[in-house]
Amino acid sequence: MIINSYNKVMSTVKEINPNATLLAVSKTYPASDIKMLYDLGQRDFGENRVQELVTKIEILPKDIRWHLIGHLQKNKVKYIVGKVCLIHSVDSIDLALAINKESIKKNITTNILIQVNLAKEIQKSGIFEEDLYTLLEECSSLTNIKVQGLMLIPPIDYNYNQLADIFDKVYKLSLDIESKRIDNINMQFLSYGMSNDYKIALEHKSNIVRVGSCIFGKRVL
Ligand SMILES: *Cc1c(COP(=O)(O)O)cnc(C)c1O
Repeated sequence: MIINSYNKVMSTVKEINPNATLLAVSKTYPASDIKMLYDLGQRDFGENRVQELVTKIEILPKDIRWHLIGHLQKNKVKYIVGKVCLIHSVDSIDLALAINKESIKKNITTNILIQVNLAKEIQKSGIFEEDLYTLLEECSSLTNIKVQGLMLIPPIDYNYNQLADIFDKVYKLSLDIESKRIDNINMQFLSYGMSNDYKIALEHKSNIVRVGSCIFGKRVL
């Protein structure tokens, strides 16, 4: 079951953008499911909870590239810095500072994405567009983090056209940021697209799609 749906999603991704990364979002699913996809060659996996991520890292193969995609609290930064290849959910200078500090302590550089909240949803994570450049300028001076792109979670009730529009908006924003040539900031990765909208996302310049239920099945929580 999982293998079939994985192969289907993977071939769709490859068809639309052969250079995109399919990030298999394995939150709530057991390590055995992850291992099944690992054996097929899948290496990028995404989790949204620090504790679950740390537990899985310990028991699964060391060459998995783990991505933290969920909201990160400052006091949990120490558990994941050095263990993940990319943190998708940085949306404040305080969090960036905490990641930088821990990275200095461990003598490494941590790759991050800035999560943007372009629809200005009050309850949701992500920085508003008007605060983005201030955050980027501040990140620019931090020695041990590297901003590699943007991440977006669109509003849940958006239709096809609204999704296409907001994805285009992230892409245009990334071009605008690139054009400013800020030290230490590049826009190599655009992380948007989930089970319901990853095709639209890929058609609108996403190069990391985060797909969970479409591969692993509906989450029961
Ligand atoms: C759970 C989650 C996903 C995957 O969602 P699906 O709809 O199951 O594909 C993607 N991104 C984030 C940030 C998530 O928390």
